[in-house]
Amino acid sequence: AAKSAGRNRYRVFDADLRSQREMRRDSGRDLSKALADGALSVWFQPIFNRDGSTIAGLEALVRWRHPQHGWIPPGDIIAAAANAGLTESLLRFILERVCGMMALLRELGLPHVRVAMNVSPREMAQLPVDAIALKRLEAMALPPSGLEIEITEETALGIEVIQDKLVRLAEAGVRVALDDFGVGYASLASLRQLHAGRIKIDRSLVTGLSGSRDKSVMVQAVLNLGVSLGLEVVAEGVETADDLGALQELGCPFVQGYHLGRPMPLSDLTSLLSVARAAA
Ligand code: C2E
Ligand code: MG
Ligand code: MG
Ligand code: MG
Repeated sequence: AAKSAGRNRYRVFDADLRSQREMRRDSGRDLSKALADGALSVWFQPIFNRDGSTIAGLEALVRWRHPQHGWIPPGDIIAAAANAGLTESLLRFILERVCGMMALLRELGLPHVRVAMNVSPREMAQLPVDAIALKRLEAMALPPSGLEIEITEETALGIEVIQDKLVRLAEAGVRVALDDFGVGYASLASLRQLHAGRIKIDRSLVTGLSGSRDKSVMVQAVLNLGVSLGLEVVAEGVETADDLGALQELGCPFVQGYHLGRPMPLSDLTSLLSVARAAA
């Protein structure tokens, strides 16, 4: 299993070599070290307006370069945190970086650029994410409207558990985005229940769009839904100029993907943001 996950990747749950318990203990220990020593970081991927050149937002994505195992996929980081009882520490770490970015954007004169962070339904269910986030924003004098929370729906958990928190966030002005839309179980009703203001079309429907009649029809349907319900729509996974062109023709208002900008560390974002400032 470790091999099929690719070079330089290890699976937290791979029990081929060691017992699961040992693996969990090690990954938990490694993660708490990484939280302290800078091996864990938050990168940002730009989200652009329809034209593909004006920055409308940034998505925060957690990164961990393990000293022995190389880059650990975000899903494994979240799982390692859960196993080690570090879920809240990890959430707070990421929130801190996100708020730092929001403050920087204000310094740069780019307050309209929103910063999105991913919160798993499990984190949302387990932690008082609403209270933690709103308190932090207030302490840093940052407006809730500058923050977005991206969440995927996992029906197994039940929407009720997370609904109240999302409603509180939304009512405070934080935008809720339903991530990976179009592949999961997200129902039309859940968009309302979760107070979503934004839909992010899963990249499986976006990548290769220009050559696929099926994908075009589905993306068009999501765009129509967005217009009808007054929701913003973002297409993620835009990997080619052709796909960008197809999205522009369909009228997709926001785009994100490798063709436009990869996730990058803060240091690499600086030049992109100064261009955005010059254009603002
Ligand atoms: P997501 O929220 O749907 O994030 C988008 C993922 O697609 C990111 O992968 C990003 O690097 C990748 N991506 C962006 N543009 C393209 C593209 O054009 N082509 C392709 N093939 N991929 C593209 P990443 O960073 O590996 O994250 C994977 C998932 O892990 C995320 O999916 C999100 O659900 C989760 N995740 C990432 N960071 C965090 C975090 O801080 N907290 C939580 N709870 N989950 C996170
Ligand atoms: Mg996301
Ligand atoms: Mg997504
Ligand atoms: Mg995803």
